[in-house]
Amino acid sequence: MKILVINAGSSSLKYQLIDTAENKVIAKGLCERIGIENSKLTYKPAGKDAYELVQNMKDHTEAIKLVLDALVDPQRGVISSMAEIDAVGHRIVHGGEKFAESVLLTDEVLETIESLNDLAPLHNPANLMGIRACKAIMPNTPMVGVFDTAFHQTMPPEAFIYALPYEAYTEHMVRRYGFHGTSHKYVTLRAIEMLGKPAEETRIITCHLGNGSSVSAIKGGKCIDTSMGLTPLEGLPMGTRSGDIDPAIVGYLARRMGVSIKEMDSYMNKKSGMLGISGVSSDFRDLSAAAAEGNERAELALKVFAYHVKKYIGAYAAVLDGVDAIVFTAGVGENDRGMRERILTGLDYLGLDVDFEYNRNAPRGEEIDIAKPESRVRVFVIPTDEELMIARDAERIVKAL
Ligand code: ADP
Repeated sequence: MKILVINAGSSSLKYQLIDTAENKVIAKGLCERIGIENSKLTYKPAGKDAYELVQNMKDHTEAIKLVLDALVDPQRGVISSMAEIDAVGHRIVHGGEKFAESVLLTDEVLETIESLNDLAPLHNPANLMGIRACKAIMPNTPMVGVFDTAFHQTMPPEAFIYALPYEAYTEHMVRRYGFHGTSHKYVTLRAIEMLGKPAEETRIITCHLGNGSSVSAIKGGKCIDTSMGLTPLEGLPMGTRSGDIDPAIVGYLARRMGVSIKEMDSYMNKKSGMLGISGVSSDFRDLSAAAAEGNERAELALKVFAYHVKKYIGAYAAVLDGVDAIVFTAGVGENDRGMRERILTGLDYLGLDVDFEYNRNAPRGEEIDIAKPESRVRVFVIPTDEELMIARDAERIVKAL
């Protein structure tokens, strides 16, 4: 099947046309500055030259139109008509408690998603704009929604309830939801296959480490805990997000600095994390370079990050009653060998015997196991592929129609 995967933001729209029979990306690209002057479409067809087109797109509908024009273009296109697209898979950030699975996007479902806008005010309305634009232009093509939160809906209450008055949950939807679910699910399925055991017998810790980072505990193929919470701010320290802090810090600093709650929101989401500690950058490559040149705060930021990932691995090994595989994925997890070494050093007591020599020169961009053959626990590096996961879910749902 040919599935168009759409990830719509408020002023951007990423797309990939995927051939699921061959696990191949046929074309991909990005629309930027939608609704702003000088909007730009980037288009990369497989095996042909990429190009950019600067043309105003006043809304997401115009953006989708340009994407489809590019895909069916007689010279540079990759399909002969829109009818070749069997389904569209949409990434949706927040499914609240309503969606534990990907779903066909009927009008009723769209209303339910809209009712969750409060939970993700920056993301869900933008995702909905992308869906409505596609529906308007491709009214006969089935649309499927794939939620970042869905994979984590199997968490038991003791993992997702915050120790606040219970009404915070029942009246205000406050609970741990978790994010990056599509990525955690993709690498979990791959890890189960690589372990070669029945899914029910597996205990896996998945570490999605990128600009945003989260760790999940997966038992029998199902998520039983994850580090992100009501929002993607909880858990690990990240590029610019604080991760876990004493909640009292927010009020304390707001009073001392005389700033509003809104400003504190941006303080913790955009100015904290690796950037906040180092004062150098949120990018792990910059931090490693600065640390190598003797920048102590960059080194401290890297240490803090590694420490927290290690702490979560220990915690999740405890809740899983042991561990069979640890998975690293996303920008940092897949590429930053030095960070993997920092995190994995001293975890021998869990049954890990990591081949650090191999890890230091490990290939990038492929699935590898960096544990020694005799290690009781496998340590996989698995390049994530959220778009392929979305395309597969869309295919499964459309085939069952
Ligand atoms: P996002 O959360 O935006 O999807 P990614 O998963 O792409 O983020 O991860 C981005 C992070 O990965 C950046 O901090 C970047 O420095 C880091 N990264 C990418 N390549 C490397 C590399 N070769 N070495 C170290 N870090 C890397």
